[in-house]
Amino acid sequence: MGRAFRIYLAGESVLICRQCGNHLAVSEGVMSKQFTGQHGRALLVQQVVNTYTGDAEDRDMRTGRHTVRDVFCRVCHTTLGWKYDFAFEHDQKYKEGKFILEREMITEKPESKRDLGRPRIEEVPVRELLARV
Ligand SMILES: [Zn+2]
Repeated sequence: MGRAFRIYLAGESVLICRQCGNHLAVSEGVMSKQFTGQHGRALLVQQVVNTYTGDAEDRDMRTGRHTVRDVFCRVCHTTLGWKYDFAFEHDQKYKEGKFILEREMITEKPESKRDLGRPRIEEVPVRELLARV
């Protein structure tokens, strides 16, 4: 049985998976709230944690062709959004390496005092991660 690490974030507020409460990103990392996902409103986020990505594929979007990967919650495997690997249009290059989180799939949780400070990393046995699903 392997071991997996889960990162617990601390910030003004934390974006978590709506399904399982897994920490995904800090609100300070949100670059734009004006994006549209497959389920409506979406956020462009600098960095996410506790996720994994699928295979890269080219998709034609409203803003041109992009190479993207779906992003999944590492705990409950919900599809949360996607990651931009590459933008074909020059004026879309700022999205490369950034993430889209669908509003529908996440929720924002204000951090309690107890959690303020540095982000911390906790080692969680894979067995226990799976049991929480
Ligand atoms: Zn989840």
